Amino acid sequence: MSISYQEAVGVSTTIEIIACIFALFILRSVMKDNKETPYLFGYFISSLLFFYFLNKSTLEIGNTGWYIEDLLGSLTSLFFGLTICKKGHSEWLCKLLIAAFIAFSASILFVANHVHYTMSFSAFCILLAFVSLVRTKNLNQADKGLAIFIAVSLLVIFYELNSIPHNISRIEYYASDFYYPLVYFSSLILVLTVFIFTSQLINLTLKYKTLATQDALTGLYNRTSVYDLVNNQLALAKRNKQACAVLMLDIDHFKQVNDQHGHQQGDDAIKLVAQQIQHCTREYDISCRYGGEEFFIFLTNTDSNLGFQIAERIRGSVTKHSKDKAYGPLTISVGLTQFNETVSLDDNIAQADKALYQSKQAGRNQTTIN
Ligand code: GH3
Ligand code: MG
Ligand code: MG
Repeated sequence: MSISYQEAVGVSTTIEIIACIFALFILRSVMKDNKETPYLFGYFISSLLFFYFLNKSTLEIGNTGWYIEDLLGSLTSLFFGLTICKKGHSEWLCKLLIAAFIAFSASILFVANHVHYTMSFSAFCILLAFVSLVRTKNLNQADKGLAIFIAVSLLVIFYELNSIPHNISRIEYYASDFYYPLVYFSSLILVLTVFIFTSQLINLTLKYKTLATQDALTGLYNRTSVYDLVNNQLALAKRNKQACAVLMLDIDHFKQVNDQHGHQQGDDAIKLVAQQIQHCTREYDISCRYGGEEFFIFLTNTDSNLGFQIAERIRGSVTKHSKDKAYGPLTISVGLTQFNETVSLDDNIAQADKALYQSKQAGRNQTTIN
């Protein structure tokens, strides 16, 4: 038994699509909130039907030489565009695609079927997909790969549009050298799936990494993530023979803020302190919400003198920016120690904590060096 090239493409594509549908269901069971997956499913199903009906020329639409597979091929392009536009949250591009598809579907009852017409619609869908992708902020590596593939697809389709004779009918086109675009666009199903899945996994990983390392209220690092970060900075500081400083901060009489103004205001006060800490420290310093209204800051390339200046700057800044708030003005107490390499990080933190306690004992609203 011998099969044609076209049948071979059909068989391999069908297997590809079925595998993609399986993968999609697995993905859906883990990530339920992805907007683009229903459209990706539509893309798979319409592709599957397109490859099934391809060249069967069974169901004619109207009397203008259109067959059901022409409509299915265009539906595939529509879902391709919708998948990418949904992914980029470009709602108006999605609406434009749907409107264009309705107009296209209605027009096939009047326009004679020739290849340029259907291909132009596909090119339009792919172009909108590309526009939606490049408009998206914070593209991850997989999205960039996808953008490159879509750009290549546009080139392929424009090349094909340019190279085929004008007004060629679909039957004539299928009988000629139609294999290259067919193979290309059937492979695109797999390419699209791989990139979309990878992109979703990258975003999910980044989301959970952020959740695991950041404090939800302030956006500062949380206590569990800070040890690894500080140890990395310490290794660098040791090599460069730089001093480092450890600061512990605590809001004064914070219980009163909660008691007099409620927990919401208390949370706002914590956020304000976190903002001032970020404002007064450098990008490579490590700021962490250590407990309820307690903060830990690790300052790289900072001796106790400079550390004291930074602590005082934060203290002044917190009071200045909170004085007009309902709960204001806030004051903070700070304990500071220059990092001692001969003892552990925990011992250094305990040392700074001792200094903080001394600040509290001495009347609060001050910085003590230990
Ligand atoms: P001191 O000057 O001695 O530090 O007095 P203080 O009132 O600040 O005393 P303490 O540090 O013991 O009080 C911490 C309070 O912070 C107790 C707790 O109810 C409150 N708190 C802890 N976490 C949160 C939070 O996430 N939000 C709010 N609103 N309050 C919190
Ligand atoms: Mg306190
Ligand atoms: Mg406290």
